[in-house]
Amino acid sequence: MKIALIAHDKKKADMVAFVKEHVHLFEKHELYATGTTGSILVEHTGLNIHLKKSGPLGGDQEIGAMVANQAIDMIIFFRDPLTAQPHEPDVSALLRLSDHYEIPLATNKSTAALFIAAIEA
Ligand code: PGA
Repeated sequence: MKIALIAHDKKKADMVAFVKEHVHLFEKHELYATGTTGSILVEHTGLNIHLKKSGPLGGDQEIGAMVANQAIDMIIFFRDPLTAQPHEPDVSALLRLSDHYEIPLATNKSTAALFIAAIEA
């Protein structure tokens, strides 16, 4: 599967922990990430990840374009619900496109864990 990984700044540590916990699953898939999230994940897990631009600089839109081209099968996006994001319109656009194309999108650890269990089965 082509899986996109995105985490807002206060959720990046959670994303690293989550990916490490499931690294044997993630290494079987083709991974994409926004720039900062992806760089941190590469550093901490050694996974091969296609890096897009940083989220606030267009990375969420790049992932959105992949969704529109049906080039992404699943998104794990750990959002920070307590901090205003300057690129909120881009985040909303990504969620909107994911709904339109019916791409599974997890916005928190519990949902992501259910996705992982489903693709492991
Ligand atoms: P980042 O982008 O991985 O470059 O920090 C994530 C985001 O805020 O959308």
